[in-house]
Amino acid sequence: MLSAPPPWTDGRPVPLLDVVRSAGRGDRVRHVEVLPQRQGELVPWPDWADPELVAAWRRIGVDRPWRHQARVAELAHAGRHVVVATGTASGKSLAYQLPVLSDLRADVGSGVGVRRPTALYLAPTKALAADQLAALDALALPGLRAATYDGDTPPEERRWVRDHASYVLTNPDLLHHSLLPGHEHWARFLRGLRYVVVDECHHYRGVFGSHVGAVLRRLRRVAARYGADPVLILASATVSEPATHASRLTGLDVESVTEDASPRGRTCVVLWEPPLLPGGGEHGAPTRRSAGTETADLLADLVSGGVRTLAFVRSRRGVETVAATARRLLAEVDPSLSQRVAAYRGGYLPEERRALERDLRSGKLLGVATTNALELGVDVAGLDAVLLAGWPGRRASLWQQLGRAGRAGQEALGVLVAADDPLDTYLVHHPEAVFGPPVEQTVLDPDNAYVLAPHLAAAAAELPLTEADLPMFGPHARALLDELVTRGVLRRRPAGWFWARTDRASDHVDLRGSGGGVFRVVEQNTGRVLGTVDAAAADRSLHQGAVYVHQGDTYLVRRLDLDEHVGLVEAAAPDWTTSARSVTDVRLLDTERSTCWGSVEVSFGTARVTTQVVSFLRRRLGTGEVLGEEPLDLPARALTTKAVWWTAPTAALEAAGVAPGDLPGALHAAEHAAIGLLPLLATCDRWDVGGVSTALHPDTGQPTVVVHDGHPGGAGFAERGHAVMVGWLRATEQAVSACECSEGCPSCVQSPKCGNGNEPLDKAGALRLLRMLLAAAPRDETADPD
Ligand SMILES: [Zn+2]
Ligand SMILES: [Zn+2]
Repeated sequence: MLSAPPPWTDGRPVPLLDVVRSAGRGDRVRHVEVLPQRQGELVPWPDWADPELVAAWRRIGVDRPWRHQARVAELAHAGRHVVVATGTASGKSLAYQLPVLSDLRADVGSGVGVRRPTALYLAPTKALAADQLAALDALALPGLRAATYDGDTPPEERRWVRDHASYVLTNPDLLHHSLLPGHEHWARFLRGLRYVVVDECHHYRGVFGSHVGAVLRRLRRVAARYGADPVLILASATVSEPATHASRLTGLDVESVTEDASPRGRTCVVLWEPPLLPGGGEHGAPTRRSAGTETADLLADLVSGGVRTLAFVRSRRGVETVAATARRLLAEVDPSLSQRVAAYRGGYLPEERRALERDLRSGKLLGVATTNALELGVDVAGLDAVLLAGWPGRRASLWQQLGRAGRAGQEALGVLVAADDPLDTYLVHHPEAVFGPPVEQTVLDPDNAYVLAPHLAAAAAELPLTEADLPMFGPHARALLDELVTRGVLRRRPAGWFWARTDRASDHVDLRGSGGGVFRVVEQNTGRVLGTVDAAAADRSLHQGAVYVHQGDTYLVRRLDLDEHVGLVEAAAPDWTTSARSVTDVRLLDTERSTCWGSVEVSFGTARVTTQVVSFLRRRLGTGEVLGEEPLDLPARALTTKAVWWTAPTAALEAAGVAPGDLPGALHAAEHAAIGLLPLLATCDRWDVGGVSTALHPDTGQPTVVVHDGHPGGAGFAERGHAVMVGWLRATEQAVSACECSEGCPSCVQSPKCGNGNEPLDKAGALRLLRMLLAAAPRDETADPD
């Protein structure tokens, strides 16, 4: 028998729900949210809209714009910077294309010598820019000269784009490496630059976001030299405070449009928690049935019910396993059905992708397991159900993936299957964090000196920097310039700061790196480069003897060459994984902000983190059982970055029931869980931050937990954690107490990246500690200064 049905939001039955609740699984449903059908709201075209453009949209079935599209277009047309943050398939493209293409079209046929308007479109990936171009081509607008400009564009075509294109679709990397350093070749284009579209702007977060912020400032400065002052239009999936993010990214005042006026079918979203299985984990801890196994079961049952289903799985290897398991389960019922499930791992040829789309649309395929490669590049919508094996990392991704379900007017089902970690545990027990107003903020730090300094140098190489330029680069720009002069990178003259070297300034910055350079991963026998690993992570993931996973294939690292920045690997299929052990020391260098909650102190500032990877463990695949430990001889690495930390006196902790002997385990367990929950509040993942806990820290003299950014100079994550400390601690306490294990497990306090082999950990002590902190915290989170 099924257990009592959980409450759902509109009380009406959901037939697809019975399929997933069958086979005695009903007690795994933690919540059912029914999103009601929404009628769209259409408005007239603005009177300035280009008639040919309107006619082109009518030809492809767009009769009138949704209200939010018209609002964005009106603001941009009036010269206001604007960010549109509405749901998947809400037509964000039309919102920015309407003012941009109308302006570009208004010029067609006008005389020679006028300043012809141009526009720039920036996407985080080449694929997305190519999709945009295809959509523009489909409009077949006379006189529109649109072109992509990326690393694959042949030289003769590049020349044509520079000389003639009115709408250039590119990415921030190309802007940084090519367009800005060679701006004199783009004089015509820059003179006319009226709009800059920044699509999918939530991708620009953390260190990458800080880099792109600096590139956009350089673009505005260079454009101004050509007399242009472009309007920025940004588009983002639903995130919290899009205007704040857009303003930090661009350095401009940006208005936001967030009310979605597009229609939606009735959608039922289920939060699902797989059962806890006894033992089998590290230190004998229980582990949850894997999200992949659970998803394969659900996929098989939905497919055998004739339900068209897409299953999103985190890794490529996971995709193969889910598809193979579902096929095996189906073969037991009806061998013909097993042929109707496929795996899609990305990296397919365009014709293979088209075939997959066709088969899904026609119903020849009923189930597909995929990585989020399907988010970009494959056009399937109108499925009946979407399964997510584990939280996809951000709310934006969740809604993008769920948005695949729902044929016109039809009901759709989405199931989020929790993975075995504290964030997923929290989310399936706290539907308001999934369906309520978003709290996860896209963060970046445009003032990070490590990021900003090389961009200032690049800016000076583009055009000498003057005093008047400095405000746009933030309060630290002046000090950084002085430092660059001292180092001989720039030269100070009466007219400003000049590039003093003979090489290319932009070559000193990698927008997507973390600052310390990268290691190449090379296959020993073939010399093939498989990929790159950030220098900061090389000791941990590319040491001799490490198991390295690349696109689902496994390799063993034979040698790590620290001088050449190369890891040599060999294909292998060991039945173990490896995890590095390290010793870490954190010194707190400088406190920028500090708040006292009685005897508890919460601070944000600069820290110096020294880490040395000292050994690694081999663990049996699946169970995590430790097979052995081997020492490593690697140097200590130092990182100066931003950190958030809290301290509490030993006496206060003892009064709260945490005895001095239990302190190390309690602090360590609370640190792990807190790091696991930070992505709820800032768009990072647990690999972007690190932590240290100690019962007596030399700089505070007290029990202390430190959580720090993993990048030089910081990335904004620790800062965000400090700003929302009470909510962060509350979510951490709730995640740990919601987990039904007794001693701690991967769903609450164990961490896959612990340098200490998950020892010591004291779950009960962590709960007492967190509750003591929360009791001391200010009642109203808004009263929390800053
Ligand atoms: Zn647990
Ligand atoms: Zn740890």
